[in-house]
Amino acid sequence: MTECEVCKWMENKKNVLFEGDKVIALLHPKPASIGHIIVLPKKHATIIEEVPDYVLPELFSVANKLSLTVFESLGVHGTNLLIQNGIPAGQKHTHMMLHVIPRQQNDGLNLMWQPKQGDDEQLTKIALQLEENSKRIGIFEEEPSAPKEVKATEELSEEDAYLKKALRRRP
Ligand SMILES: [Zn+2]
Repeated sequence: MTECEVCKWMENKKNVLFEGDKVIALLHPKPASIGHIIVLPKKHATIIEEVPDYVLPELFSVANKLSLTVFESLGVHGTNLLIQNGIPAGQKHTHMMLHVIPRQQNDGLNLMWQPKQGDDEQLTKIALQLEENSKRIGIFEEEPSAPKEVKATEELSEEDAYLKKALRRRP
């Protein structure tokens, strides 16, 4: 069995708000604020880089809609959509999650930072460093065709065979 605590939360199906083929959303059992939701890829992935391109749109769309839901249902003043990618970024679980954190004015959650003054020369240098490996990011990984489709074809060909047989039986 899985050793991932978050996979176990998914299996328990407690306080599930949405479940699709690829993504599940549930209330965080250890919330940062009231209504804290996590949206998870159903197939275990440790960091976002391991989540296939074809799963990410659903992950973000579900988070976006649940963000709207907490605005409407809980009367919150704002939300943070947050991914903690890696331990230095505050990641606490070995399963990638997109947090939807409801916010109230002066709720004391510390997710702010002081912006630094941008240095033109340094920004240009960093853009150059990133340029080469950024060239292929517009190529998205396609979802492998679903086994369901194969089955449908089999059923169709079975039906086809039956029809042919039936036709042959006719005088
Ligand atoms: Zn997991």
